[in-house]
Amino acid sequence: MDCIFCEIVAGRLGSDQVYSDDRVIAFRDINPAAPVHVLIVPRRHVESLLDVDAVDAGLPTAMHRAVVEVARRLGIAETGFRVIINNGEGAGQTVGHLHYHVLGGRTLSDLL
Ligand code: 5GP
Ligand code: ZN
Repeated sequence: MDCIFCEIVAGRLGSDQVYSDDRVIAFRDINPAAPVHVLIVPRRHVESLLDVDAVDAGLPTAMHRAVVEVARRLGIAETGFRVIINNGEGAGQTVGHLHYHVLGGRTLSDLL
């Protein structure tokens, strides 16, 4: 399988990692849309939200915990942050491995 996020999880492709646990890892987006722009991805290959339950029903909890941990570590828990999931091609998903975008560090009134 040719998946860049699986390559990052495996350590074959470099990334600026900010959090990891047994289920997920988090690293900075290569093309940040805000001063803090982190991607949280499952360690196991899950293509989209539609496939989560089939792989690991506990994954949403792990992803949410990671969001909070990343926000605290990077100093945006109090100032505010946004979580975005582009699910499917029509929503702008360009990498077919589920990921949460966590954005913060500036006013985000331009998005939604
Ligand atoms: P999507 O458009 O699928 O919601 O988001 C994919 C994100 O992955 C984009 O924001 C893009 O900048 C980021 N990205 C793509 N390739 C790489 C990479 O090799 N390393 C990192 N850190 N981010 C990547
Ligand atoms: Zn993958």
